[in-house]
Amino acid sequence: MSVMVGIEALSYYFPRYSIKAEEYQEAWGYFAGRGIREKTVAAYDEDEVTMACQAASNLAWDGVGYIAAATVAGPRLSSPLVSALGEDCVRKADFTGSTNASGEALLSCLDYVETRGEKAVLVAADCPMGVPSEPMEHPLGAAAAAMLFSVEGGLEISQTGSHTQEEMGERYLDDRGRLRGRGVRDAATDVVPQAARQVLPKDPSHVWAACSEFDGRFARSVLGALLRPAQIGGNVVELSGDTGCSSPLLALMELLHSRKRGDEILLVTYGGGSCVAALFRLRSRPKVAAAPRTVLASPRVHVDYIHYAQMRRFLSRDRPPSELSMGAYLSIPSYLDTIQERYRLLASRCTECNHFHFPPRYVCLQCGGQTFHREPLAGKGEVYARTVISRGSAPTEFREQQDVAGDYGVCIVQFEEGPRVITQLTDCDPTDVEIGTRVECVLRRIYRQEGVTRYGYKFRPSKPKSPTSRGRRK
Ligand SMILES: [Zn+2]
Repeated sequence: MSVMVGIEALSYYFPRYSIKAEEYQEAWGYFAGRGIREKTVAAYDEDEVTMACQAASNLAWDGVGYIAAATVAGPRLSSPLVSALGEDCVRKADFTGSTNASGEALLSCLDYVETRGEKAVLVAADCPMGVPSEPMEHPLGAAAAAMLFSVEGGLEISQTGSHTQEEMGERYLDDRGRLRGRGVRDAATDVVPQAARQVLPKDPSHVWAACSEFDGRFARSVLGALLRPAQIGGNVVELSGDTGCSSPLLALMELLHSRKRGDEILLVTYGGGSCVAALFRLRSRPKVAAAPRTVLASPRVHVDYIHYAQMRRFLSRDRPPSELSMGAYLSIPSYLDTIQERYRLLASRCTECNHFHFPPRYVCLQCGGQTFHREPLAGKGEVYARTVISRGSAPTEFREQQDVAGDYGVCIVQFEEGPRVITQLTDCDPTDVEIGTRVECVLRRIYRQEGVTRYGYKFRPSKPKSPTSRGRRK
């Protein structure tokens, strides 16, 4: 049986920080990101995992049976995604090693939905670490993108194709986990048209294209032999920088905003000498937040190069890890035991009196009841008390954070459901946060120790409703 598979909804996440090309110009005397005016920067406590969870949390997860996660250089994303979304019975797969990982993940989602009829989600996230003194570092940005596939999806797949040609000198991670490479464009100029021709109609003059974007010219140079420049849309890279695996998905989301029913759209992912091409027909518009460029063009927090180098941990990265302290140490077994609380605020509600306990308890403080229903808190609340931790007073686990990000805010948050927690503040100047400030929960890196990154909740001031932020999924 053959079913039509399509994209039902799309979502994305950009960090709130950006750096402009002029800052590189001032620091290094040049900027190597062609066609890039500014790029997004992951905050000190963000990485591929936190960004992927943020993008994925905007989708409706009912009926999803499969997660395909793609990243060039990040940690494995699928396990934390499953934990953060509470979807512990879904199948999952990780795709990594090149920017074509998102294309490979897309093919696996299409196969899954076609053969099983259940929904699938593709999540891609990247904020690769480059070598500060090398031009290749300049364009590297940060973003995550997510797509929900189903048999009802309005952006219907009509053809897929792929082509691979082994190339030397493409992007690779050096022995310190930093991204290096050369000759990417030369290989792509051969490989991309070979894959695209497999899916394009004989007369491609009415097809629109979204493509991996490593700089402002890549898409047009690799597709230029097949399509007119005006057909190649969705230039997000100009304001986001090279966002790796998520870049073709962001380009598609941008392109969708200017397309109409019946249009044909080519999606091209490229990396490591391999290309995936997929041709879609827009039958009905999938759910998608505001156009990515609109969000990137709205007021952002611009940082200078020194601040950028600190956030990317260029200077502190090779320091020995902090020693264990009694202050904030969390053993790996304790961490693993409490992941559901840490990632998705899983609380216990007393079945006798409906009182919420977080962290979960075994006896109700309100009525002494001993039966509970486990359910996540919505992640919204207000500040009950707030302080700022200055140099010298932080547990050693947070010493690196203090070195690069300065003083940090700690507060007691009162959840709407009642419980209170002590938590770090993020994405704000802590001195701007007052008692009663409305805050919302986000998953962030807490610290890394014993070779394991601990993730958990932090809180940031709630914003008026915007397309890239939303409360946690209930
Ligand atoms: Zn009770």
